[in-house]
Amino acid sequence: MIKDDNQFTTEELELINAFDADVPFRVLQTTNSEDLKILKTQSTEINSINLDLAHLIQRMHETVTNENSKGVGIAAPQVGINRQVILVQRVDKEDRPFEFYINPKIIWQSEILREGDEGCLSIPDVYKSVKRSLVITIEFQNLENEIFSETLEGFVAVIFQHEIDHLNGILFTDLIESQFQSQFIEASTKVNLYYEN
Ligand SMILES: [Zn+2]
Repeated sequence: MIKDDNQFTTEELELINAFDADVPFRVLQTTNSEDLKILKTQSTEINSINLDLAHLIQRMHETVTNENSKGVGIAAPQVGINRQVILVQRVDKEDRPFEFYINPKIIWQSEILREGDEGCLSIPDVYKSVKRSLVITIEFQNLENEIFSETLEGFVAVIFQHEIDHLNGILFTDLIESQFQSQFIEASTKVNLYYEN
């Protein structure tokens, strides 16, 4: 259902509607101090589903599939909008489609962690190993305001955790710093699985 009320600020609307739906956004960079401020800000929930939100999602899709900013996921703060919407490439599905998630939350996560290399469209030239939950359960909304939950495992769960972190102002490089101070127990010698001690 499309509602008339509008949640976006005038500034946000200017950014979202500056170009047509097929034009990608500029991706904010941690190397720019103004951009970094937005990337470190907690994003607020989407409380109204409207055409501006649809336009934002379409332009985010153009951004994450564009040759210059290609990735497996993107979060709204990365294009300058501190609102809770992400796009994730469903690498676990046939044809690996990009899907959008409104107000996504992790409602459960496994203690077993998986280690893997990550990069970020907003952090130039950094690819580092991060430990994240192997399995998560998320809750999110669709454009009809219906609430869904889904349990995810493996690389797609990594993408969700990375993008949902963006909504909370957390970058994967922040995680690396905190994990540096934690101790982990190896859960398997064959695959990269760990427990936090
Ligand atoms: Zn990122």
